[in-house]
Amino acid sequence: MSKSCYFCNILLNEDNEQQLDDTRLKLALDTKIEMQKFNANFHVCKACFQKRSQGLKFKNSLKKAEILSLKKLISSTFANKKSVTKFPFKVFYQLNEIDTPYPAQALFTVPKRSFKKAVDRNLLRRRIKEAYRKNKHHLYRVLEDKEIQLSLIIIYIAKQKMSYEEIEQQLTVSLEKIIQKIE
Ligand SMILES: [Zn+2]
Repeated sequence: MSKSCYFCNILLNEDNEQQLDDTRLKLALDTKIEMQKFNANFHVCKACFQKRSQGLKFKNSLKKAEILSLKKLISSTFANKKSVTKFPFKVFYQLNEIDTPYPAQALFTVPKRSFKKAVDRNLLRRRIKEAYRKNKHHLYRVLEDKEIQLSLIIIYIAKQKMSYEEIEQQLTVSLEKIIQKIE
């Protein structure tokens, strides 16, 4: 049984096959390849992997394709009414089919009515995104295992600015609560 590279068709052996678990592979390749194609018969050579994953930092990057931006998905995620609350966050979530190779897309919201100045909203949004980027992996792994995708709307409901450390801790708990709900 010979295996060949999905991209260049080169025959694969122990030396030239890229060995990666599915999650890393999908994140690295970041293409429009359908989820179904990432199965046991999907193989890729080291050269193609290198070329396609160039410049990507897997661990802590947050790509555009991981941000929820489609209006239709945003409204349906709100309308779905499923949420978890862990101060300072309320997170709406919905199982969804999303046109992205990632297992989830998230939107980060700091309401204008709570923070009048854009500079404050931007600072908080940056902290939340950073915390999400660093702590999304458990959620991603669970979604990958179940072969499902999730849309998330993360709303900062506090009226005061919180430190990065507090934000990170509470966002991590929020994501764990969502994992419990979908498991
Ligand atoms: Zn190849």
